[in-house]
Amino acid sequence: MSSSDRVVVVGGGVSGLACAHRLHKAGVPFTLLEAADAPGGRVRTDHYNGFLLDRGFQVLLTAYPEAGRLLNYKKLSLRKFRSGALIRWGGGFHRLVDPWRDPFKALPTLFSPIGTFRDKLKIAKLRSNVKSKSLFNIFNAEDQTTIAELKSYQFSPEIINQFFRPFFGGVFLDRDLLTSSRMFNFVFQMFSRGHVTLPREGIGQIANQLASRLPRDRIRLGCRVQKIQENVVHLEDGSEISSRGIVIAAGGEATARLLGRPFDSHQRRQVACLYFRAPKSPLNEPYLVLNGESHGPVNNLCVPSLVSPDYAPQGQHLISTSVLQDCMDDNLESKVVAQMQEWYGSQVEEWEHLRTYHIAEALPNQASGVPPSFTQGKINSHVYLCGDFCMQGSLNAAMYSGRLAAEELSEDLSATIS
Ligand SMILES: Cc1cc2nc3c(=O)[nH]c(=O)nc-3n(C[C@H](O)[C@H](O)[C@H](O)COP(=O)(O)OP(=O)(O)OC[C@H]3O[C@@H](n4cnc5c(N)ncnc54)[C@H](O)[C@@H]3O)c2cc1C
Repeated sequence: MSSSDRVVVVGGGVSGLACAHRLHKAGVPFTLLEAADAPGGRVRTDHYNGFLLDRGFQVLLTAYPEAGRLLNYKKLSLRKFRSGALIRWGGGFHRLVDPWRDPFKALPTLFSPIGTFRDKLKIAKLRSNVKSKSLFNIFNAEDQTTIAELKSYQFSPEIINQFFRPFFGGVFLDRDLLTSSRMFNFVFQMFSRGHVTLPREGIGQIANQLASRLPRDRIRLGCRVQKIQENVVHLEDGSEISSRGIVIAAGGEATARLLGRPFDSHQRRQVACLYFRAPKSPLNEPYLVLNGESHGPVNNLCVPSLVSPDYAPQGQHLISTSVLQDCMDDNLESKVVAQMQEWYGSQVEEWEHLRTYHIAEALPNQASGVPPSFTQGKINSHVYLCGDFCMQGSLNAAMYSGRLAAEELSEDLSATIS
């Protein structure tokens, strides 16, 4: 057994990296063990024939407070989506624009067939209610489902189905909108306060930036932890590390396995992301496209190469389509192509399928009344937990959770020494 005066962090997703970063800043020696061949967990980008394929479509909201503190946005070279969305409905596409961001484009959207005129005024009311709230108030407000929250504003069924359902259904991977209204209000505030972005060279740059701040010899890749007994970490290769403290930052199912607890599919949300290459973009501007109709597997679509040209080789475009769990089946690719032909016509014949990512554990189930799967922080005298399954499903929460675990552990260690 290698005896160690180090803390062991299990998992190199953004929560484990944020935790390690905080330990490093506090001068606490650590070793981060990551099972995969690179850090990042759910935040990775693959290079494929000149394309950048994020492992599932996700975005960084610049208003995230913890991410804003931790990341160097300038170095990530963030590229913005246009605010608002294009909504597929009634056989056409309709723009819904945020009037505070894009006043010139907003006026026609007030009269677009998406929802009623009153709905658009209510969106403004919701925005002003939510925008000024403190995060404390948001997360301590009475909890109900997102759909109940929207109904309390008396939004029409049309705007709920055409806009809120695909938009927030895509964010929470939950088209039923059973997600907690606290999470809805938090995310709505983040959308209202900042920009929706992608790092120029892919979402994985977020994890790469965090990893680059840690001493290289403190990160061990391809190291799967098999079990944890008291202060000893047992690796799959048979070796053992004794530690001064262990932080498990391993995601939902893996954390449950290491703790010997049950974990089932109701605790997580899954998504599939299908990528296509195309000689021509189906959009002119970097909007998110939402499926406001009740048929077709694709919930949302975007063209990452319009947001950042680095996502595709010159003269080509990358198209990203997301399918939520209720619409997944064996013939997904052909159903997605059929839907795209209905939306964009014959140009889709020139699209070529690049890759499909099925992400079984994309987000925790954040339904109203469902507590996080795990307790944040210290759970016994050796083990601390962090990650989005201890808090909420977002990059921001994963980073915050990692930092909190590191701070709690550092304090405990200094209390032991003194
Ligand atoms: C498709 C998709 C879309 C998303 N969209 C957004 C979005 O738009 N905005 C947003 O803010 N968030 C989004 N998220 C959520 C966000 O990515 C996650 O909340 C966050 O990345 C979780 O980080 P984590 O460190 O908690 O977990 P993970 O990223 O799951 O990290 C866990 C790590 O532990 C490692 N590990 C597991 N078991 C072991 C073991 N036994 N030994 C060693 N290592 C182990 C894994 O390999 C992994 O690297 C999205 C996620 C996905 C997948």
